[in-house]
Amino acid sequence: MKPCPYCGYSNLDSATQCRKCDSSLVSAGGTVYSGRRHVLSPLHAKYVRDRGLAVLVLGLLVKVYWGGYGPWPVIDNPALAHARTWLEPLLIYGGLAIYALGWAFKWL
Ligand SMILES: [Zn+2]
Repeated sequence: MKPCPYCGYSNLDSATQCRKCDSSLVSAGGTVYSGRRHVLSPLHAKYVRDRGLAVLVLGLLVKVYWGGYGPWPVIDNPALAHARTWLEPLLIYGGLAIYALGWAFKWL
């Protein structure tokens, strides 16, 4: 199988063009030529979006579990409670920003 570096689709080894996104898969050595030049390939942009989503989910987990939004006790250790005040927005808004960046790379 020859994976398309733009969309990740597994094409037949004999394929010269991706079946899913129509990118040209000219070189057998793995070099792929496309009519369009991207800053990041769509596959790498998807990695960026996935990481952004993971960071966002981690931030929401910190908010829910660490913030005491449940039947468990709130973590009231001053150092940990203070860390949550900057860690939670950093993860949530940072994750959103990384996801938006990965989304924007689809057109860059
Ligand atoms: Zn493709």
